Amino acid sequence: MITGKTKLLGLMGRPVEHSLSPVMHNAAFAKEGLDYVYVAMDVDPNELPAAVRGAVALGFRGFNLTMPHKEKIIALLDEVDGAAKVSGAVNTVVIEGSKLRGHNTDGSGMAEACRESGTDVLGKTVALLGAGGAASAISFALQSEGTKEIRIFNRSVDRAEALAAKLEEFGGGANIHAHPLDSLGSSDTIPDILINTTSLGMKDEDPLPVPEEYLKSLPDHATVADAVYRPGGRTRLLHAADGLGLRTIDGQRMLLYQGVHAQKLWIGLEPNVKAMDGQLPQSR
Ligand code: NDP
Repeated sequence: MITGKTKLLGLMGRPVEHSLSPVMHNAAFAKEGLDYVYVAMDVDPNELPAAVRGAVALGFRGFNLTMPHKEKIIALLDEVDGAAKVSGAVNTVVIEGSKLRGHNTDGSGMAEACRESGTDVLGKTVALLGAGGAASAISFALQSEGTKEIRIFNRSVDRAEALAAKLEEFGGGANIHAHPLDSLGSSDTIPDILINTTSLGMKDEDPLPVPEEYLKSLPDHATVADAVYRPGGRTRLLHAADGLGLRTIDGQRMLLYQGVHAQKLWIGLEPNVKAMDGQLPQSR
């Protein structure tokens, strides 16, 4: 029940009405009897500074950000974590007094989803497709967790090179290489884990982000993960990998765990993952 003492959390984005985050977080609060409420807030990009000042003034404990605010928020924060620095994007803000701390839990969310599936990233070689915000956050998290080699394949190779340079600057110790996306089929890389972070897969008509032949060349122990999620449905990439008997991780698991890690930052307790998961549509 919402009371006079209920602590406020929420999501700023545009659009936000289809977001799964409110039901996911509120289910965990209800199950644990925690006096928090999480609301979706449709924020005009021009009004982001006013919305953030408003959240502080209203005593919010923190908030998530989604498109189109994840990058613009950085200029409004007092400090940001390493994942946010590398990715140039923040998905979680913690408010302490008047101080705003920015985090990016997308990458650690994917790393947790790997763990959940039984995929150990330590010492492994990863082929990462894409070099945008999700790729940056994921590669930072993988590097922090001891991945041995990260090969970044992107349509615009200069963006892959820029990400590789940033990761090296942050010195996690992994070998990082940048390649054009269309060199994947001819690359000699045999990854243990393939992760798609390109936007390909969001629409029914999208082509696979990798040639089917390349998927077939992956070793039997390989894991194929997709950051892209289609509520209740799996991407063509994951269907194809399933068909080859490979282990797969769907973008909804990353969504779940980025939320779990955000909630932990706000409330300082282990969130009720089962309650949060129970709100997500079953993937087919
Ligand atoms: P960005 O816009 O930052 O990056 C998009 C990436 O996709 C770039 O690497 C871009 O390449 C590539 N790309 C776009 N169109 C094509 C195409 N036609 N062919 C090949 N490559 C293409 O987006 P994000 O990184 O923020 O998000 C990427 C995906 O990840 C989205 O589907 C998003 O919904 C999902 N995501 C999922 C999360 C989760 O919790 N599951 C969290 C965050 C994101 P180029 O640089 O050449 O343009």
